[in-house]
Amino acid sequence: MTTELEIGLYIFMLAGFLGYHVISRVPPLLHTPLMSATNAIAGISLVGSLIVAGADYGPFSTLLGFIAVTCSSTNVVGGFLITDRMLKMFKKTKDQTVPRRRLQFNPKMLLALPVLLLSLLVLVYGYEEQSKDAVHFFRDVLSTQALKYFYILSAALFILGLKGLSSPKSARKGMFLAELGMLMAVVGTLFHHEIVTYQWIIIGLVIGGVVGGAMGLRIPMTAVPQRTALSHSLGALAACLVGISEYFRHHGELGMVVMTALGFQVVIGGLTFTGSLMAAAKLQGLLPGHPITYKGQNVLNLSLLAVIAASLIYLIIVPTAGTLFYVMVGLAFVFGLMLIIPIGAADMPVVIALLNSYGGLADAAMGFVLMNKIQIITGSLDGTSGFLLSLLMCRAMNRSAMNVLFGAFGKIEKEEGGPAAEAKGSVRSIVPEEVAVLLDSAQSVIIVPGYGMAVAQAQHGVGELAKLLIKRGIDVKYAIHPVAGRMPGHMNVLLAEANVPYDLLYSMEQINPYFPEADIALVVGANDVTNPAAKNNKNSPLYGMPILEVDRAKSIIILKRSLRPGFAGVDNELYYDPKCMMLFGDAKESLNKLFTALKS
Ligand code: NAP
Repeated sequence: MTTELEIGLYIFMLAGFLGYHVISRVPPLLHTPLMSATNAIAGISLVGSLIVAGADYGPFSTLLGFIAVTCSSTNVVGGFLITDRMLKMFKKTKDQTVPRRRLQFNPKMLLALPVLLLSLLVLVYGYEEQSKDAVHFFRDVLSTQALKYFYILSAALFILGLKGLSSPKSARKGMFLAELGMLMAVVGTLFHHEIVTYQWIIIGLVIGGVVGGAMGLRIPMTAVPQRTALSHSLGALAACLVGISEYFRHHGELGMVVMTALGFQVVIGGLTFTGSLMAAAKLQGLLPGHPITYKGQNVLNLSLLAVIAASLIYLIIVPTAGTLFYVMVGLAFVFGLMLIIPIGAADMPVVIALLNSYGGLADAAMGFVLMNKIQIITGSLDGTSGFLLSLLMCRAMNRSAMNVLFGAFGKIEKEEGGPAAEAKGSVRSIVPEEVAVLLDSAQSVIIVPGYGMAVAQAQHGVGELAKLLIKRGIDVKYAIHPVAGRMPGHMNVLLAEANVPYDLLYSMEQINPYFPEADIALVVGANDVTNPAAKNNKNSPLYGMPILEVDRAKSIIILKRSLRPGFAGVDNELYYDPKCMMLFGDAKESLNKLFTALKS
């Protein structure tokens, strides 16, 4: 006979394959929304959290459940709101010129979700006081019969939702389906037969709804990486707390299989919680961004991991060893911190994607503990998405996954064997008025945005300049490198925010053949992604990374503050190219001056 565990494993595996198939079709344009969408879907840990918060498992479990409900609902509301905010910005040129008459979906409407849930709960709660039998009947029918079908439908809606992300056209509709799926799963769970009280659930949902709503609606697009990291930490904390509550209420008397899943749940949940918090703090600049390394770091980290693994194995054999369980959870928290300390802020996006994947695994493990299939499915989808995105980033940076996982990445490497600076020639600088003259006489311009555009918040300036050029009949295209900026799809979201139509955005493969015909390549705060050393200099750390072939354009204008290198710490030989002119200064200020000069 097929056991529940086997069914769970089949589901996990198939959801992973399906997730891979669906997610690998999401274009790089939508990689940032994909990250926040899977983040919101991973808020399905809310399902397990609701049961723990509302069941009669004792005050300790209720407290943990309440915190887990708060964290998970923050993720759900915040994640869906920010995804919708981003997706709404992606428009084609024709959509921008023809105003839409149709009723637009307003993300603020999502705030009605917690209100709706609350009203429902208040109704059920109030009614229960008067007529226990009717409500119990209603609940029993729903919990035993309808709930499982709710979950099946939710899973289908999540997959359709992610499938919608395969094109900006269908993305918002897809996300609406995913939101519907979440609503069904959550409402269905509220009628779970083990839930006996709603008061902590209601408080948790209100706090989570308000915090998530504020995060989703207020956070600027440039702060999306840190918001994503913070969300991972909340989701992982929820998974970890639900695991601790399950262990506590069974006094450790658990079967081998459940103990294995629960062990993974708390360990992965714990290390993802502290690791993601560190990542968010580094990205926000609350902690120093440079890698903190010390002698024997790898040995210490590996020893810590070995102690955690040994504790887990012991607990699987002797699950009642309570003290060891809590020590193991504590060590997992510490390990999360130690894992992120040696990684620089610049490499946090890869870390975030990996932690996204870990968070998904913690969710799936929670699904195995509670034998909740919807959590197994979404955990698997989330795990696949994070893993796939981190692999794509590695590939675009020409780094191996092993290097990302075990190298002290984020360290600035020194270029070896490259020509000395004085041997490279001189650098030509240019003023905005001269750039304006050049742009005015050009027929085709390719704009190359990079991390500096995000730092300077110059996306609006870029968009305005491009509009002016297009008005004057100049052909304008944007060249988007897959790892320009600090997050997959980072440039696309920023440009969409500045109302740049997405049909003007060209991927690296699409744009490279256009460079030889371009009169001007206008590089705004990009560096590594344009460095010809990636093609020519075997000794460069960038060697092998596919780049935007800016050096093939007829002339190159670079907007940056100095000759300082970018993320890889490698000098850019493009600056010494006789075709290249440097417009030094903050990108936003330079663009303002350029715009004024061009207009006058
Ligand atoms: P980059 O190589 O890091 O260069 C950014 C440049 O922007 C710097 O050289 C800097 O020069 C300039 N800059 C900074 N602030 C500026 C301002 N206010 N105004 C004007 N310029 C400013 O960026 P990139 O070309 O976008 O390349 C991205 C790098 O990040 C790649 O090496 C990639 O591998 C790595 N990475 C990307 C991801 C991802 O998912 N996108 C993930 C991990 C790592 P000045 O200081 O002289 O101004």
